[in-house]
Amino acid sequence: MSVSSELFAKALKLIPGGVNSPVRAFRSVGGAPFFVTRADGATLTTADGRELIDFVCTWGPAILGHNHPVIREAIRTALDRGTSFGTPNPLEVEMAELITQFVPSIEKVRMCNSGTEATMSAIRLARGFTGRDKIIKFSGCYHGHSDSLLIKAGSGALTHGNPDSAGVPASFAQETIVLPFNDAPAVESAFAAHPGQIACVILEPYIGNVGFILPDRGYLQALREITARHGAVLIFDEVMTGFRLARGGVQELEGIRPDLTTLGKIIGGGLPVGAFGGRAEIMDRLAPLGPVYQAGTLSGNPLAMAAGIAGLKLLRELDPYPRLDRLGRQLRDAVLAAAQAKGLAVQVPQCGSMLSVFFTATPVRDYASALTGDAKVFGRFFSACLEGGVYLPPSAYEAWFLSTAHEGSAIDRACEVISRAIAGL
Ligand SMILES: *Cc1c(COP(=O)(O)O)cnc(C)c1O
Repeated sequence: MSVSSELFAKALKLIPGGVNSPVRAFRSVGGAPFFVTRADGATLTTADGRELIDFVCTWGPAILGHNHPVIREAIRTALDRGTSFGTPNPLEVEMAELITQFVPSIEKVRMCNSGTEATMSAIRLARGFTGRDKIIKFSGCYHGHSDSLLIKAGSGALTHGNPDSAGVPASFAQETIVLPFNDAPAVESAFAAHPGQIACVILEPYIGNVGFILPDRGYLQALREITARHGAVLIFDEVMTGFRLARGGVQELEGIRPDLTTLGKIIGGGLPVGAFGGRAEIMDRLAPLGPVYQAGTLSGNPLAMAAGIAGLKLLRELDPYPRLDRLGRQLRDAVLAAAQAKGLAVQVPQCGSMLSVFFTATPVRDYASALTGDAKVFGRFFSACLEGGVYLPPSAYEAWFLSTAHEGSAIDRACEVISRAIAGL
């Protein structure tokens, strides 16, 4: 019996499903998850001593590769000064300065401890600011697991067959209007049907949580225009895309200024962090200045700030985005070539260091078309890649992530393994 299967048997008795986040279970691809004891660069080392090329990158944060020496050193320096102060600390100011420089739509920012907290707080703030209750989200967009957002929420929930979680009161869900992505007229109609009642529109501007999906040309601009016209807050959830697709996220690529932005993942440099920010006029509605309450014992934690600041400064210095896009295209082209040789229909949406592979002939532009991707074929593909030493996200409905550490031998080897896996399907 392997060390991983022994650990998993024990974990199953102690932790629900054996995992602390359901996306880590291998339910949709079959088999049991492996345990990891080390992560360096593009490589995970399992509890059984196997080395795997990792395309999950801790679900997004590890854009510079795992265990980056500069980030590690920053944490070590902070650690020597104490792990938590419960007072303001200088690193919080430095972090806020960096975020507002990177993302110009953010005039003021508040730190929290996860992406879930960031989106939950941004929604409350939008409601407090507008005095309205209803929100619009899009099917397939995941914004963390808070009540009003866990409706048609993509990957984790989808993989486990319950897009609407038990325990969410129907009365809460009623305040959430769920619309198809890439359908601006549907948004227009919702505003017409609920005049003066919609506080905000929240979306992943490039979706990464039902696989990777890009917006149609003009769609995001239409959302900006409609929300502005109706006095509703436009929230870009860039927890995944922030600092990943460009220093200023999708809003930089698309030239759009949302009212609020939520961040997480990369800004923590691998430690638990979230943040939300935007127009000062809205942010100043937060306590202690305004009536919208939001708080956190460990918010702005010095270790997390040190790790995040080191990561952001490296991104500024290295500007790795053109390199990452080349890696993304290399991977996409390898998949497309292998699928064509095999006569297999695939869709491979890609931008920079994010992509995903849908086994379908249908172009993927929303939740419904993403679901045409064949999860059984993906499961076999996943297993063949893992067999060959390449770890893909364990679900047909997740984005793949690249890091600067994939450059060179890792990407070349991975492309070979992936091409062979497709040939063998
Ligand atoms: C991961 C993610 C979240 C939730 O962040 P957590 O830190 O897991 O709570 C929210 N929104 C998006 C777009 C995400 O990808």
